[in-house]
Amino acid sequence: MMSPRVHIVGGGLAGSEAAYFLAEKGISVVLHEMRPAKSTPAHETDQFAELVCSNSLKSQVPHSAPGILKAEMRQFGSLILKCAAETAVPGGDALTVDRDLFAQSITRALKSHPNITIVPGEVAEPFQDEITLFATGPLTSDRLGTWFAKATQTQDLYFYDAIAPIVDASSIDMNSAFLANRYDKGGEEAYINCPFSESEYQTFIDALMVAEKVPPKPFEKEKFFQGCQPIEAIANTGRDSLRFGPMKPVGLIDPRTGQRPYAVVQLRPENLGKTAYNLVGFQTKLKYGEQSKVFRLIPALKNAEFLRLGSIHRNTYVCSPKVLRSDLSLKGHPKVYLAGQITGVEGYLESAACGLLSAIFITQRLQGLPHQAPPVNTGMGAILKQIIGSDPDHFEPTNIHFGLFDPNFFQNLNGLKKDEIRQSIAIQAVQNFTNWRIQTEFERKKANAHSS
Ligand SMILES: Cc1cc2nc3c(=O)[nH]c(=O)nc-3n(C[C@H](O)[C@H](O)[C@H](O)COP(=O)(O)OP(=O)(O)OC[C@H]3O[C@@H](n4cnc5c(N)ncnc54)[C@H](O)[C@@H]3O)c2cc1C
Repeated sequence: MMSPRVHIVGGGLAGSEAAYFLAEKGISVVLHEMRPAKSTPAHETDQFAELVCSNSLKSQVPHSAPGILKAEMRQFGSLILKCAAETAVPGGDALTVDRDLFAQSITRALKSHPNITIVPGEVAEPFQDEITLFATGPLTSDRLGTWFAKATQTQDLYFYDAIAPIVDASSIDMNSAFLANRYDKGGEEAYINCPFSESEYQTFIDALMVAEKVPPKPFEKEKFFQGCQPIEAIANTGRDSLRFGPMKPVGLIDPRTGQRPYAVVQLRPENLGKTAYNLVGFQTKLKYGEQSKVFRLIPALKNAEFLRLGSIHRNTYVCSPKVLRSDLSLKGHPKVYLAGQITGVEGYLESAACGLLSAIFITQRLQGLPHQAPPVNTGMGAILKQIIGSDPDHFEPTNIHFGLFDPNFFQNLNGLKKDEIRQSIAIQAVQNFTNWRIQTEFERKKANAHSS
C-alpha cells in the first residue's frame, strides 16, 4: 500500500495550490519551504505564494486566454484565485492583488489546514518511497538543481530564459511577407518571412538601439548562452550584425521582387493550426512597451498583435517534453512529480494551474484511478500539451495565450471574425473542461462503488 502522504517542496504559486488541493481531498501533505532560512535572489518575505515582481494574475475577461484558465481552475476550488478575489485591488481587466495581503491569506489557509504540515528547510533530493512533488520554481536552490541535472541525465536545466515574442497570425500583413523555407528545404513551407529593404532595416536598427531595456536585477549577471543573445545585444556589436545573424536573408528569395531581401525576420508557427507565430531568434530585454513599438517597424508586422512579448531572465526549468511523463512525473523516478515554472510554464497564474494539474494527477494515482488529463481543447489541457508535447529541441517556457488553442479541436469557427473565434473558443474550452471534470468524477464514483 502506498502511503497517502505527499511531500511538496516549494511553497510558491504551484506548491501552495497543489498543497491545498490535495489537503482538501483528505490527503496528508508535508509542505517544505526553505525561506526564510534560505531565500532566493528574488523573494523578500517568509510568506507562501509571494509574488516576486508584478502584482497581476493577468486578465479576468472570460473570453481571454487567462480568463479560460481561471474559469477552469475555479472548478477545482483554486486557493490562489480564492485568495486573489479576497485581496483584489483595482486593475482594470486584470486580476491584481495587494501582494502582502494575498500572500498572507494563502499562508493562513495553508498553515491552518488540518491535513497540511509545514516543514521549514531546503530539500535537496526526493523523499524515499513517498511521493515528492517539486514546485521549486525558476529560482530552485542550487543543491536541488544539481539533483535535477543528475536525475535527468542531461544538461537539460536551462538557466536563462530566452523568450521570443509570439504574434497572432491574423495580424501579419501577408502582402509584405512570403512563405518559404530557407533554401526551400524541409517540404511544406513552414516559415513566414518578413523582408526588409535597406532603408527599412536601418530605421529598425536605429529604433532598436535607442529603445529602453529592462535593467538586470542585482542577482542577474549579464551572461547568456551562445545562441541566446538578446537581439539588442547583437545589434550593439555592429549595425550589420543582425542581418548576418538572426535576420540573415541567405537562402530566401522574395517572390514579389525575385531578389534576396536585404534582411529578413522569420516567423515560425507555434501550433498546428498556425494561428500564432514565433519571431525566430528575437529574444530580447527591451521593455514591453518598447517591444511593441520597435517590432511594429518590421514591415509585415506593422499592425501586429503580440500574444506574448520577449524576455530574458534567470530561470531553471527542465526540458519537459524529454524528461516528464504525461502525468508530470519524472521519467525514471515514478514517485517524483514536478509542477510550476520548473516544468516550463511561465507566469504566476500558469504556475498555479500547473500545480493544480500535478495535484489532480497525484490524486488520481492515490485513488487507484487511471491517469486522465484534461483534453487539449481546454485551457489546462492546452498548457499541458505544450509542456509535454512540444518539440524538445525548441522547448521554451510558455504562458497561456490563444496560440495554444488549436482551432481544429473546436467547432463552428468557420466564417467567424477573430474576436468571435476567441469568444467561441473560450466558451467551448470551459465547457469541454466541465464535461471532462464531470466524466472523471463519475468514473471515480463508479470505481469506488465497485471496490466497496
Ligand atoms: C525575477 C522574476 C520576476 C518575475 N516576474 C513575474 C511577473 O511579473 N509576473 C508573472 O506572472 N511571473 C513572473 N515571474 C515568473 C514567476 O516567478 C513564476 O511565474 C512563479 O512565481 C513561479 O511559480 P512557482 O510556484 O513555480 O515558483 P515560485 O513561486 O518561485 O515558488 C518556488 C518556491 O520554492 C522554494 N524553493 C526553491 N528551492 C527549494 C528547495 N530546494 N527546498 C525548499 N524550497 C525551495 C522557493 O523559496 C519558493 O518559495 C518572475 C520570475 C522571476 C524569477
